[in-house]
Amino acid sequence: MGVEPWRWDEDVWRGHVEHVRAGRSLRPARWPGGAKVAVALSFDSDHETLPLRDGDVLPGKLAQGEYGARVGVPRVLRLLERYGAPASFFVPAVSALLHDGEVKSYVDAGHEVGLHGWIHERNTALTPAEERDLAFRAADVLERLAGTRPVGIRTPSWDFSAHTLAITRELGLRYDSSLMADDDCYELVENGEPTGVVELPVEWIRDDAPYFVMDRFTSSRPYTPPRGVLSIWQDEFDLAYAEGGMFQLTMHPHIIGHRSRIAVLTELLDHISGHEGVWFATHAQIVDHVVEAAEA
Ligand SMILES: [Zn+2]
Repeated sequence: MGVEPWRWDEDVWRGHVEHVRAGRSLRPARWPGGAKVAVALSFDSDHETLPLRDGDVLPGKLAQGEYGARVGVPRVLRLLERYGAPASFFVPAVSALLHDGEVKSYVDAGHEVGLHGWIHERNTALTPAEERDLAFRAADVLERLAGTRPVGIRTPSWDFSAHTLAITRELGLRYDSSLMADDDCYELVENGEPTGVVELPVEWIRDDAPYFVMDRFTSSRPYTPPRGVLSIWQDEFDLAYAEGGMFQLTMHPHIIGHRSRIAVLTELLDHISGHEGVWFATHAQIVDHVVEAAEA
């Protein structure tokens, strides 16, 4: 007999919903320097960890991931430098260890490095002890390679378990960037209690993977052309700008780093930079600002 939610008492369904929920909005009245919009660009440097996580150890899929480190990352870094845009890179520890010097190249260019699991594991498939152990080991690896301990986490595949928030709090992290309850930052509430942990929300709409990832042996055959994705992301930005909010984007070097797609990211950054009052910032910088503004 499976789960029968229609038999649940109110305290059961309410308890599930209230376990991890959106609390007060942390959308600030103003952005630094009188900016009209905050632009939070992020790149999840998964590289080979996507096939590795699924136990696919053959050269084919690993090469697709390797492209991210060899070609995607240098292209992305050049582009960010051209626009003077600091960004956040979420890096699985195994990916960081496989590509010597990559984490340091992010830090040296003024970008942020955040947690993204050990080997892009699925948190909801782990025991709480396994999830905790991997998160702490990953934080140690990134701290060693980046020179500072990460202050934020993006769960691999945005797979957020029943224990992820408790582990995030135990790690002393300032923010999570895996949930989707708002367009702007908010405080996470655990079982009715404000946690002080900021959520910098994401969305599949503002992620390159669902539009572009093709798999030979499954029915995954995306059909959105790169310039179609550009128009979606421009609309997302334009409304964020009109509302004075935040525009957040999640990309992957092995996906967005290809020529026909980096062309689209370039056009998007041209479009954004053509506006007055744009604040490009790392996720950590935005979190610092919204917390400060809430306390003022
Ligand atoms: Zn990832």
